[in-house]
Amino acid sequence: MRPTVLISGLWHETNTFSPIPTDLAAFRAYQWAEGADLAARYAGTNTEIGGMLAGAEVAGLAVAPGLFAGAIPSGTVTREAFEALAGRIAGSAARARPDGILLALHGALVADGVVQSDAELVRRVRAAVGADVPLVATYDLHANIGPALVEACDLLIGYDTFPHTDMGARGAEAAARLAAMLATGARPHKVFRKLPIITVPQMQATAELPMDAVMARVAAAERVSGVDVVSVAQGFAYADIDHLGVAVTGYGADPSAVAREVDAVAAMIGDAREAFRPRLVSVPEAVARAAVPGRGPVVLVEPADNVGGGAPGDGTAILAEMARRRVGGTIVLWDPPAVAAARGADRFAGPVGGRTLPDLHGPPVEISGRVIFAEPAVRYVRDGAYMTGQEVPMGDVAVVRTDFGLNVVLTGERVMPFDDTHLRRVGIDPAGEPVLVAKSGSAWKIAFQAIARDAVVVDTGGVCASNVERLPYTSAAARQCWPLAHG
Ligand SMILES: [Zn+2]
Repeated sequence: MRPTVLISGLWHETNTFSPIPTDLAAFRAYQWAEGADLAARYAGTNTEIGGMLAGAEVAGLAVAPGLFAGAIPSGTVTREAFEALAGRIAGSAARARPDGILLALHGALVADGVVQSDAELVRRVRAAVGADVPLVATYDLHANIGPALVEACDLLIGYDTFPHTDMGARGAEAAARLAAMLATGARPHKVFRKLPIITVPQMQATAELPMDAVMARVAAAERVSGVDVVSVAQGFAYADIDHLGVAVTGYGADPSAVAREVDAVAAMIGDAREAFRPRLVSVPEAVARAAVPGRGPVVLVEPADNVGGGAPGDGTAILAEMARRRVGGTIVLWDPPAVAAARGADRFAGPVGGRTLPDLHGPPVEISGRVIFAEPAVRYVRDGAYMTGQEVPMGDVAVVRTDFGLNVVLTGERVMPFDDTHLRRVGIDPAGEPVLVAKSGSAWKIAFQAIARDAVVVDTGGVCASNVERLPYTSAAARQCWPLAHG
């Protein structure tokens, strides 16, 4: 009889500096598929679950679908939501009585009062099926890996790309390695190294220095005999927790070879740490650089308001300067009340943005213009390289175009600019825009790098600031990490 594997997952990157709590509704609104719906929703997509489904098929494993739930990065996950999600996932494991388990985790989930929350989820799944059932989990390159997660899983496989494009491949790899464990009964040796280093998304792109060299070393490590998987977790800087920071995980049959290779990768990151220091341009200088006619599109990158890192996406620091200088282009803002005011009207005049954290991300800015797009409950399917095939909500949307050619895209849900479909869906051709404001660290490159004439990373305040010295860390472990500890 074919072995049965449970496929399940829980995905959240938690920004503990964000005041927006992440409740069960936030998971239901973004990604939620359970039972038969899991395959219907994710088969054929470039997601971990899509890859796990495909890999299980190739390996001849029968699939017991559990629950996959994910929320857009935001603040701390409520205890109630964590208990409900962990209970459902552990419950489906108990019912399925699987021979093996595949979990798609993010690895940076922080639930209220639950230390090392991803590990606690795995422990509960383990408790439901018994400690002998092999368990393989995937994690995002931005995971904050702690010892409890390494302890709880037989194998961890991290993404090798940022901007992330290899989710399907890592999911398929997880299924193949689980199948091998089921066939042989053997478990790989584990090596885990934690580095007291915080790096920021702006500096983590795996096709650029210093990460391209690190990832080449990782690939070399995985070619060594007796080494199966080596992964780098760059960590997620915006979590005030004890297991914050960079980690390297390694697995294989030869413990000394795995340790040697993992140590070499970890040493390389430690030696390169100064190369992870971000370079930023002030708001006036950035907008002045973007305002030169005929140079577009210029991408103004705002990591501090990175929606994909849990920031609200309603920051106005750049908008205010563009409005003051009458610079055209496109900016996306999360602002449900403004959407409601603009829908059904030909013109809009009023304040936009700045509703969540005006002291950090700027106060509301007055704009006026024609309403050139308005639709309720907009959804689209990602067709770029990030999570290809995944359907995502934008909420109700209105686009206001000012008389100086600035499109302000007002959305009812927070939208991560990891593809250009969210602009094309509302009638904007990004290639034709003089300026694109991207509230993102590096993930914007998937959508816009190919069309950008120039990109300027802008220094604003916010819960995802590239300058981490701006943030009020309290955890002793965080304070001991570079660059906080060393300036
Ligand atoms: Zn990530």
